[in-house]
Amino acid sequence: MTPRFLPKYALETVPRYTSYPPATGFGEVNGESLWADWMRALPATPKVSLYLHIPFCKTMCWYCGCNTTIPNKSERIERYLDALKDVMRHRAASLPADAQIHHIHFGGGSPDMLSPVQFSDLMQEIRDAFPLAINAEIAAELDPRGVTRALATRLGELGFNRASLGVQDLSDEVQKLIHRIQPLSVVRQAVQNLREAGITAINTDIMYGLPAQTVDRVEMTAHAVTELSPDRIAVFGYAHVPWFKKHQKAIPEDRLPGAQERFEQMLAASSVLETHGYQPVGFDHFAKPGDSMAIRTREGRLCRNFQGYTDDDYDVLMGLGASSISEAPGGYLQNQPDPARYAESRETCLTSYVRGLQRGSEERRIAARIDPNFIVRDQQHSRAI
Ligand code: SF4
Repeated sequence: MTPRFLPKYALETVPRYTSYPPATGFGEVNGESLWADWMRALPATPKVSLYLHIPFCKTMCWYCGCNTTIPNKSERIERYLDALKDVMRHRAASLPADAQIHHIHFGGGSPDMLSPVQFSDLMQEIRDAFPLAINAEIAAELDPRGVTRALATRLGELGFNRASLGVQDLSDEVQKLIHRIQPLSVVRQAVQNLREAGITAINTDIMYGLPAQTVDRVEMTAHAVTELSPDRIAVFGYAHVPWFKKHQKAIPEDRLPGAQERFEQMLAASSVLETHGYQPVGFDHFAKPGDSMAIRTREGRLCRNFQGYTDDDYDVLMGLGASSISEAPGGYLQNQPDPARYAESRETCLTSYVRGLQRGSEERRIAARIDPNFIVRDQQHSRAI
């Protein structure tokens, strides 16, 4: 059997792999004109996915690597949502008439910062602007501390059917050091609220490499998470980049595990999850054998986009909101990353693409190595042009 990991690489200092192509490889482009060209080149009935970035959280977790802010006033969220809706209507008009939305994903930040009313308004705008497929997946990343019964109920009523919860580590000491106090009881209540609201597809994230984490603590967290019986579990390594994410300076560096310990923690988490019947999906995801990601893995049809492994084989991913990335067969475009600037004015938003990358032969070659499904989709798109 081919080993899933090569320890000699796990212990070397190499660039952090999160996504391909990395956004650091993006450059200046005429985004509006490229997007228009790419939309004209799409097949007649493209599958479209939406990603909406909600860059707000109640408090900052010290390990956070996301593009988020702590809003001091609720008006900031309102202004941002107004801009998001304007851009959404504008971009919807650029799609072919027979495009259909198959996936909607709210990420962040913490989308649970939106009130039930704000979620209702936003979903109404989406339904007015885009034709949704009947069985569309509607998912949100949620902070378990923000999943009230009222919010879960509203999300269920609005058609949400998948939720991703960040668990990270369940030991008290680690939670204190990362500034995220979230006992297992809070996560359990969030899962219960979601399931009672009919949102039965649950993903969870756990982490290794956090301050004061040990193999025992990672194993304890992995065991506890399997008891909640999520469909998918992602196991992410903490990336310590305090020169880039200033709040990470609050992480005590002398408590961070070394490369060997990180590797052992990752292996320990994998072992616990596999013992509980979860199937490995790529190198950092696990899923129940009946889950679509696990099935696609067995069939060699798993997809990987710049955010990670997915079962979503879209033709177009439309990124809405600050920093979000759109993908079409022709390449990638990234929005203005600063939430305040994104929300400044409607005019600014409508020229919100700040960087991008046209997909050339080198990107196609590498994408085909990472994403087993890429060649099939690329050939379909080439035939459609
Ligand atoms: S809740 Fe998530 S996005 Fe918000 S600060 Fe914590 S890790 Fe970052």
